[in-house]
Amino acid sequence: MSQFWSAVVHGLNPYSPGEQPGFAQLIKLNTNENPYPPSPRVVAAIRAELGEDGARLARYPDPEGVRLKDAIVHYYERHDIAPRQVFVGNSSDEVLAHVFQALFRHAAPILLPDVTYSFYPVYCGLYDIAFETIPVDRDFAIRVEDYQGRANGGIIFPNPNAPTGRALPLIDIERVVRANPQSVVVIDEAYVDFGADTAIALVNRHPNLLVTQTFSKSRALAGLRVGFAIGHPDLIEGLERVKNCFNSYLLDHLALAGATAALEDVEWFEQNRRKIIASRESLTAQLVGLGFQVIPSQANFIFAHHPDHDAATLAQALRERHIIVRHFKLPRIEGHLRISIGTPAECAALVDALKHVFNP
Ligand SMILES: *Cc1c(COP(=O)(O)O)cnc(C)c1O
Repeated sequence: MSQFWSAVVHGLNPYSPGEQPGFAQLIKLNTNENPYPPSPRVVAAIRAELGEDGARLARYPDPEGVRLKDAIVHYYERHDIAPRQVFVGNSSDEVLAHVFQALFRHAAPILLPDVTYSFYPVYCGLYDIAFETIPVDRDFAIRVEDYQGRANGGIIFPNPNAPTGRALPLIDIERVVRANPQSVVVIDEAYVDFGADTAIALVNRHPNLLVTQTFSKSRALAGLRVGFAIGHPDLIEGLERVKNCFNSYLLDHLALAGATAALEDVEWFEQNRRKIIASRESLTAQLVGLGFQVIPSQANFIFAHHPDHDAATLAQALRERHIIVRHFKLPRIEGHLRISIGTPAECAALVDALKHVFNP
């Protein structure tokens, strides 16, 4: 607290990110990072960009990120996207911040699920945006009919949803988009590559649909901070206007080079997601064997509840065994643990630790 804070800072309720421990022995299943290193082509591209003497770092990067946008357009060739339909930014969290600022500051409240990514209400606080939460059903599924016929200043939810991992089919996404032609519908696809269909397939039909994605999860680049949005050129222009009032060079040389190379290594990407999906299915089966109820996940994490064990106590017991998972002390979900999918060895260590906790 300080007399120098502005009034708005006193009122903020910041997001608290999952712990990043300094202690390397921990098995880290708490922030949905990819357990594998990124494509070797990413590393090579960053090294090449840096060069012998790092001279490039003396120069500002391309403020438009043209090469990266072209690589995104090329990667999504089948959906026929133009570069002016793409916005790139320093992480999808930052892209989302610009989305809230540029597209959600209207008179009516925005709509979001009650169980969802807890950063959205934080942006609402930062930008003074009213929001209304729509309860997910008893099985934690988003009911699309609840998003129809309600006046609103915008709609946002992840697909697959976080922290539940549940995905909606594109037909349902399209129903929400169609039912709300006066609002921007933002689909946050941070986890889409682990099993859901991308709504990028729909953007050319719907000028009110914006899709965001990140390189942090499926491309193993959480530390590089790259995200993007795809939608109608007018939506993208709104984001560019905000960005150019904030920081004209959102992405640095290394991030631009690394992210571009990541998109080009399709083989690494396909292999990586297949491994993670396989681990997810096997971990789910093992946890069910231990008595957990696990929500069917299309993401790189699972959301699990044990009827006989308190979730916070379990998280603590795992921590004592050097495994960290995420527990949210929030209504409706405080009985659940969100467990990121690790390597097969990490998943096995988790199952082992749980067996010891259950039968000491
Ligand atoms: C991880 C995550 C993000 C943020 O990704 P970054 O690009 O690392 O900022 C956005 N939305 C959801 C739902 C996420 O889980």
